Amino acid sequence: MRPLYDAHQHFQFDELAPHRAAIAASLQAIGLKRAVVNGSCEQDWPVVTDLAQQYDWILPSYGLHPWDCGNRSPHWQSALRTQLDANPLAHVGEIGLDRWMIDSVKPGDLRLTGLRVAPLAEQVEAFTWQFTLAAELNRAASVHCLQAFGPLLDALTQTKRPARGFLLHAYSGPAEMIKPFADLGAYFSFNGNFLKHSGGTRSPDGVSRLDRWKQIPSDRLLVETDAPAMPLPNECATHHLPPGPNGEPLNHPANIEAAYAALASLRDIHIETLVTQVEENFQRLFGDNSKS
Ligand SMILES: [Zn+2]
Repeated sequence: MRPLYDAHQHFQFDELAPHRAAIAASLQAIGLKRAVVNGSCEQDWPVVTDLAQQYDWILPSYGLHPWDCGNRSPHWQSALRTQLDANPLAHVGEIGLDRWMIDSVKPGDLRLTGLRVAPLAEQVEAFTWQFTLAAELNRAASVHCLQAFGPLLDALTQTKRPARGFLLHAYSGPAEMIKPFADLGAYFSFNGNFLKHSGGTRSPDGVSRLDRWKQIPSDRLLVETDAPAMPLPNECATHHLPPGPNGEPLNHPANIEAAYAALASLRDIHIETLVTQVEENFQRLFGDNSKS
């Protein structure tokens, strides 16, 4: 069995609760070694901690996501520090910047129901504080970015960065920004949802969304599901879940296997080569290197 690593998912989300035992069995069956489970708001953090005690493949991560930034409590910073102090192997995330929810979200998008949308300046402040904390504690930071790659690069250039590096999860930025981000310590995780662009969708830089994954340096490459978010096109998914409470499609975490297969084929390398490379990269970024 191949040792697989999911660099970014959300096992704590309520939509997965009725299916958790079955999902855990599927993950064991495909050989999943570790998954970084990202608590993205204050209410999530204790749930992630509980799940990490039940499932030894969970690597917990705690952060305030830009979607939740507008609803943070006055005590969020001390609560985050408490979580990180209690678990020296935990990481920071999901944190980030999101201009999509300000400029491009369609009215009535259920994913943002009940959330106050934080203006970009407020997001930058929360992001920078959390990223600096990750640097101070040398934890990996897992970063979400939608339509805000310029401000993200500016923020990263101006703050202390974790010595071990940081993750740009489901990177959707332009091809020409891969090198500047990598120079600052970025890793990039491929998501199987990008296969929906296999028709050759071109972004403004002329490089298709999928083709830019051929340009990621091999020592900075990771694979993720973001489950239950970012479902794969139906024909690419190997594992299925019933739709969520609002009828939305859910991504099964065991589709990590399909994401590995798609990325190996895209980069035209043998899957075993990718598996070995991702394992090394995952350990370097997220592993217990406190002794080194
Ligand atoms: Zn996520």
